[in-house]
Amino acid sequence: MAVPKRKTSKKVKNQRRTHKKLHAPGMVICENCGEYSKPHHVCKSCGQYNGKQVVEQ
Ligand SMILES: [Zn+2]
Repeated sequence: MAVPKRKTSKKVKNQRRTHKKLHAPGMVICENCGEYSKPHHVCKSCGQYNGKQVVEQ
């Protein structure tokens, strides 16, 4: 069985994990106002969905 020759350094370990970060679950960033909103739902802060004004503010 293949076994690593050296212990993975903290630097290499952290470099590998740079794309592995937490984000708010089930939330997307609105393309119009940049606020967090639910996916496939009208944005609560600007009232837009799919680039169209759906709810007047
Ligand atoms: Zn919005």
